[in-house]
Amino acid sequence: MNTSAPHNKSRGLARVIPGVAASDGAGVKLRRSLGNSQNVRLDPFLMLDEFGTENPDDYIAGFPPHPHRGFETVTYMIDGRMQHRDHLGNVGDLGPGGVQWMSAGRGVIHSEMPQQDRGRMRGFQLWINLPAAEKMKPASYRDIPPAEIPVHDLPQGGRVKVIAGTTTVGAARIEGPINGATARLSTDPLYLDVELPPGSSFEQPITAGHNAFVYVYEGAVAIASRDGERPLPAQAAGVLEREGDTVRIVASANGARFVLLAARPLGEPIVQYGPFVMNTREEIETAIRDYQSGRLTG
Ligand code: FE
Repeated sequence: MNTSAPHNKSRGLARVIPGVAASDGAGVKLRRSLGNSQNVRLDPFLMLDEFGTENPDDYIAGFPPHPHRGFETVTYMIDGRMQHRDHLGNVGDLGPGGVQWMSAGRGVIHSEMPQQDRGRMRGFQLWINLPAAEKMKPASYRDIPPAEIPVHDLPQGGRVKVIAGTTTVGAARIEGPINGATARLSTDPLYLDVELPPGSSFEQPITAGHNAFVYVYEGAVAIASRDGERPLPAQAAGVLEREGDTVRIVASANGARFVLLAARPLGEPIVQYGPFVMNTREEIETAIRDYQSGRLTG
């Protein structure tokens, strides 16, 4: 007999997108899960790259000047240093624990170059789509130093870092530097970085209708749901079911470090040509023409 009140549904693991070895910029080695080919995306997330290496040959050439139009790029540095320079004259140093949130809008031309010739370089670059109405807005850019990104200890050990959106730990409500009050993003993103000791778990509410995924970069996890637990290995994007209002993530016997992302889908057509992501083929042709004639950035 089931007399329990209706309870929240926990989103299980719907599919796993393995990260595949890729190279970008002037030869930076990375692992691409979302975006590893056209149509491997999770609206509004277009791409997730994990870069992580001790070998300077894998990153030293960096990302020399290149354009973007129509979406946002979010770079989260875990180890190492990169410098961003763009056509607006912005220079930003991205160090361990820092984030750069750039909205390319109608156009940005920038470079992202390593500021070290030895040691470990590790982090993520995420691309989040913009709705049609915002694709041609002026570019904007925000450097978020580690001191502005709240980190909260978890009751079972480990910690959660809030880059975007909100989480709750016990009675504490923790807001990231990118949230509804500080940055009105149409996609209303959640971006958490979580570290769990062996066997412990982490639960997070996910807004109804938002798409969500988990990417493990150390250890392994299982995603718990009413149907049981499904394992998610490292270096793969675990896309969560659409239905449900929470997710519960259980660390393996070795513990885990992972990022958890969620956002409101746009439900618009996507036409992508490299660093230009628009709604139609005509808009892509315009972007290419604008870039070739020096009018990309307005
Ligand atoms: Fe870029």
